[in-house]
Amino acid sequence: MDAELFGQVLDAVRDFVRKEVVPREAEIDERDEIPAEIRDKAAELGLFGWALPEEYGGLGLGMAEDVRLAIELGHTTPAFRSLFGTNNGIAGQAIVHHGTPDQRTRWLPRLAAGQAIASFALTEAEAGSDPGGLTSRAVRDGDRYRLSGTKRFITNAPLAEVFVAFARTDPDSTGSRGISAFLVPAGADGVTVGPHDAKMGQAGAWTSEVVFDDVELSADALVGEEGKGFGIAMASLARGRLHIAALCVGMAERALAEAVEYARTARQGGRVIGEYQLVQALLAESHAELAAGRAMVHEAAAKYDSGEDRKLGPSSAKLFCTEMLGRVADRAVQVHGGMGYVRGVTVERIYRDARLFRIYEGTSEIQKLVIARQLLKD
Ligand SMILES: Cc1cc2nc3c(=O)[nH]c(=O)nc-3n(C[C@H](O)[C@H](O)[C@H](O)COP(=O)(O)OP(=O)(O)OC[C@H]3O[C@@H](n4cnc5c(N)ncnc54)[C@H](O)[C@@H]3O)c2cc1C
Repeated sequence: MDAELFGQVLDAVRDFVRKEVVPREAEIDERDEIPAEIRDKAAELGLFGWALPEEYGGLGLGMAEDVRLAIELGHTTPAFRSLFGTNNGIAGQAIVHHGTPDQRTRWLPRLAAGQAIASFALTEAEAGSDPGGLTSRAVRDGDRYRLSGTKRFITNAPLAEVFVAFARTDPDSTGSRGISAFLVPAGADGVTVGPHDAKMGQAGAWTSEVVFDDVELSADALVGEEGKGFGIAMASLARGRLHIAALCVGMAERALAEAVEYARTARQGGRVIGEYQLVQALLAESHAELAAGRAMVHEAAAKYDSGEDRKLGPSSAKLFCTEMLGRVADRAVQVHGGMGYVRGVTVERIYRDARLFRIYEGTSEIQKLVIARQLLKD
């Protein structure tokens, strides 16, 4: 995107996040729901399609722009980003890069406009860190497939109009081979979305179990080549990892700002607590780690855009920034003392919200394996 235009998009998003979403984040946390007017304004700003191509109505942002946007989105509840995260990320990217021209024309304009939500359905009870262990099956029946299986923790499933679902098409295959990706309309016979999971944090972002019970799909529901679904899932996740790392940088900026403000104003022993050097150490450590994470994200994004590295950088950035945010959020709670443990205080919410990032889109342990394997391969 043209630099001046991108600057305007970033300013508009920053303004909206800080003036209209931040004041309502406690309400979102309490009611476990994003208000309809916030969803509508997000659609107006183009947020449902920031990473989707311009020809389909998206903003077509590259990775360097994506991370700058994600840092801004990190300044409020991550449930806000989650609402349009799957359209741009894990689900939307699979359609952009592997969908047929018909699939792209049918879905991408509606996803970019926020008229439809797409979810990414890969995880199963015994196939989370090891998606190659999935047991969902799609059996070919003439010019159709019949899909059966149970997915869990699927973000935006209760809102989704379409699922990018992964199932084994080769019954004799094991591991990453023989898996295919399909576009499954949420309204198809045999699709059941369970109740929202009651989560530790990120209230307002919904996940559910999704059951596919002998769902009949026409052959044109296949995304990419039959048997190549695992690669499609991994490529979508790599881009998502860098985006999540940047979001964590934004959340750490917010947590640190809250801690600095508290340290400047709260008093103990007749002095503001910011005058105590042990409190200063908590702030200084967080600032240094945050600066490292921010630099890492921008460098990884530049290498992603140039094509130099789309694997090591995203995984390293996700590993470091999600763990960094955990430490920064923990210190922000510590700076607040007892107030940091009270519901309704921003750092208490950030502490709970932050925990998810070390688990989903590949746990920290899995990022370490991805990084080490890549190093040894190179
Ligand atoms: C809120 C939320 C939203 C999500 N959204 C989606 C979504 O939209 N779509 C989707 O498909 N999935 C989604 N997920 C699933 C998520 O990606 C998985 O939860 C995650 O990958 C971990 O898998 P698991 O829960 O099965 O845990 P497990 O894989 O069972 O992990 C348990 C522990 O074992 C460790 N472990 C597992 N295997 C290894 C190994 N080989 N080496 C070392 N350690 C290992 C893990 O690191 C972890 O510490 C979501 C999850 C949550 C909680």
